[in-house]
Amino acid sequence: NETLLQVKHLQTNFYTENGVVKAVNDVSFAIREGETVCIVGESGCGKSITALSLMQLIPENGKVEGGEINFSGKNLLDLSKKDIRRLRGNEIGMIFQEPMTSLNPVFTIGEQMIEPIQEHLLLSKKDAYKKAMELITMLGIPNAEKIVNLYPHELSGGMLQRIMIAIALSCNPKLIIADEPTTALDVTIQAQILDLLRDIKKEFNTSMLLITHDLGVVAEMADYVVVMYAGKVVEEGPVLELFKNPQHPYTKGLLKAKPVIGERKDRLYTIAGQVPNLVDLHEACYFADRCEHAMDICRMKQPVLTEIAKGQKAACWLYEDGENR
Ligand code: SF4
Ligand code: MG
Repeated sequence: NETLLQVKHLQTNFYTENGVVKAVNDVSFAIREGETVCIVGESGCGKSITALSLMQLIPENGKVEGGEINFSGKNLLDLSKKDIRRLRGNEIGMIFQEPMTSLNPVFTIGEQMIEPIQEHLLLSKKDAYKKAMELITMLGIPNAEKIVNLYPHELSGGMLQRIMIAIALSCNPKLIIADEPTTALDVTIQAQILDLLRDIKKEFNTSMLLITHDLGVVAEMADYVVVMYAGKVVEEGPVLELFKNPQHPYTKGLLKAKPVIGERKDRLYTIAGQVPNLVDLHEACYFADRCEHAMDICRMKQPVLTEIAKGQKAACWLYEDGENR
């Protein structure tokens, strides 16, 4: 399959009172047509900022200061705000954790769905309405005619997330970016939404960039996994290989702390220690303070992402041979 999105050496910095925070630090990855790539890591590791950087949606004190984001033959970093807004919701659909934050409380669901469909697909109001109905029904929501006349606060979280997916799909995007799409939902609804996203991917051959802290979600959804830590990619590979044979101590830790069904999400990760302060980074492995295998070299030089098994890469001195040291 052809490469749809290629991110190369992405660098996103935030300017704060305490200094420059390297939130996304030399991140590269690619998504092929029809492929789901999951970015996984603890909160604060840079995964959401990576996704927001693609769409020029980072907060004002942040800036993409390096790299390339190639999508369908264009470098997205060269596009104007206007062009990127056109792309968003047209060729690229986005789904966020809290559907309420992306919906306008004073407009009905129908009003919020029909207008972008009209605008992006150049349909009449009547045809856009028809398309909205089809999508709502396809996403397993009964009584579409009734739903379109409701306001966001009149729907449950699971229903709203379905509506967000309907909106994201309404313009037949090539890529869907979903940031923790099920994190705010209860377990049963979560499973339904994940099923839905999988069906969509199969039916439309849509590519997906899925951001999550939840390895259960990764196991169910990913073709390829990118593990981020402190703004960097520390390991990546096809999902089966990565789960069967994790290489980086951080990935191993995440997998050991695998979710227990019914347990609360925010207590999943139990790797001791904290993500380092991203202002004071120096030449070192950023995981060294939490790593039980840390050696002298780990505190002096940064390991680079190296192929260590077929298709699998890790950035760790345990796997570097002498010549790289
Ligand atoms: Fe641990 Fe060293 Fe590997 Fe970092 S480079 S993960 S500190 S062994
Ligand atoms: Mg996040």
